[in-house]
Amino acid sequence: MNNKLYGNLIFELSKSGRKGYSLPEYASEHSTAELPQALRRSEEAGLPECDELTVVRHYTNLSHNNFGVDDGFYPLGSCTMKYNPALNEEVGTLEEFAALHPQQSTTSCQGALLVYYNLQKSLAELTGLSRFTLNPCAGAHGELTGLMIIRAYHDSRGDDKRRKVLIPDSAHGTNPASAAVCGMDVVEVKSLDDGTVDVDDLKAKIAEHADEVAAMMMTNPNTLGIFERNIPAIAQMVHECGALMYYDGANLNPMLGVARPGDMGFDVMHINLHKTFSTPHGGGGPGSGPVGVRKGLEDFLPTPRVEYDEQSDTFTIATDDEKSMGSVGNFFGNFGVVLKAYAWLCSLGKEHIKEVGPLATLNANYIKQQLKDVYELPIEGVCKHEFVFDGLKDKSTGVTTMDVAKRLLDYGYHAPTIYFPLLFHEAMMIEPTESESKETIDSFIEVMRTIAREAKEQPELVKTAPHTTPIGRVDDVLAAKQPVLTYTKMVNS
Ligand SMILES: *Cc1c(COP(=O)(O)O)cnc(C)c1O
Repeated sequence: MNNKLYGNLIFELSKSGRKGYSLPEYASEHSTAELPQALRRSEEAGLPECDELTVVRHYTNLSHNNFGVDDGFYPLGSCTMKYNPALNEEVGTLEEFAALHPQQSTTSCQGALLVYYNLQKSLAELTGLSRFTLNPCAGAHGELTGLMIIRAYHDSRGDDKRRKVLIPDSAHGTNPASAAVCGMDVVEVKSLDDGTVDVDDLKAKIAEHADEVAAMMMTNPNTLGIFERNIPAIAQMVHECGALMYYDGANLNPMLGVARPGDMGFDVMHINLHKTFSTPHGGGGPGSGPVGVRKGLEDFLPTPRVEYDEQSDTFTIATDDEKSMGSVGNFFGNFGVVLKAYAWLCSLGKEHIKEVGPLATLNANYIKQQLKDVYELPIEGVCKHEFVFDGLKDKSTGVTTMDVAKRLLDYGYHAPTIYFPLLFHEAMMIEPTESESKETIDSFIEVMRTIAREAKEQPELVKTAPHTTPIGRVDDVLAAKQPVLTYTKMVNS
């Protein structure tokens, strides 16, 4: 439904003099004359003027044009679009937490500090590491923090030539970007056909750069949803050359309660709370990218830190530490996200958290097996939480992955991640997560099979999809090359 009457932009609905509030007139002594000249507007703010009902309908209509996990199945690979229980949202907005000020005294916010401390402790236990900071605000922010910790570690030992990071060519784009922001050079490591690290190539790269390597960044399961088999050997080679092992744990979902990066030989890692730990995402935040380190690296973590004093049973805040890599943002990051993650962990408990990974893995493998006769499966074998198809099996129809993705919208499903990873031309990356029922998954499978049939029998129908959405197929190239990002029409003209 795209109701023109309620407009695409609230500015288009503005009528001079309309308003959605009624407030008493200010007495003249409260006039703007009290404000210093420098802080006063010299011209109208240009805000839209609308009555309340128009505003309500405008935003309600806009919300109907959206698609979220609360609307339907959202198998967006690498993003873990699982259901985030409403309970956690409620905990995240409790006034007792939401109204806290980051600069109030520690004695007056012991509860919040306890949540922070306990969550970092739970993450340490889940990952087999020693200690976490919850201050970074996104996965990429966590990567940068982790690399800065690694740099601080090497520098503290006088080993300050280590400025190279080994990164597999299948890695998420944020890995090389974070290395660059940290002032490090990327040394690309090749992948084998199944996307796992080519150990021989790694060996050669280490031999070439040995005393300049700061770290090896690995994603596991990797970007193709495959568990890396050679981690012990890789960790040994990397450690022997004096570098550290970094684990990109943005996709920790399949690992929960199954295996721990700390036990595999990783030294530093980040987690995306806004993927695995119950925070909705997709609109750009707020997120949280906690970073954990193994024993011996705790002093390099950023400040401020929440400390626990057993004797007095109180939590305190440490703000300076000589060895610390510094601070990575304001105060303690996005505390609302921390609350939701803590609520989620507490509601599942130690027992049930163990079911998350296996269930997510089962769901992915089930879909893969049910569809591999009509969609091209480039990598056989058991996947973890996600897998990649390389488009339709029958390439003669001319129907592309983009077409299938658009057609899915007509059936009420969000598209999988498409054209990523770049290892395949028609990549379609499917991640169902543990939240979905067998009924939902079965009906998704049926729809995917229907689209494969349509591609053969009525290819035009698929190529011109979507047909039922408020906006049809957009011109991606034009949108990327000539984006219209501002609204310049004069208000109330
Ligand atoms: C999502 C993701 C990231 C980046 O996380 P952001 O919060 O978007 O910065 C990094 N690595 C992998 C493997 C990811 O899936």
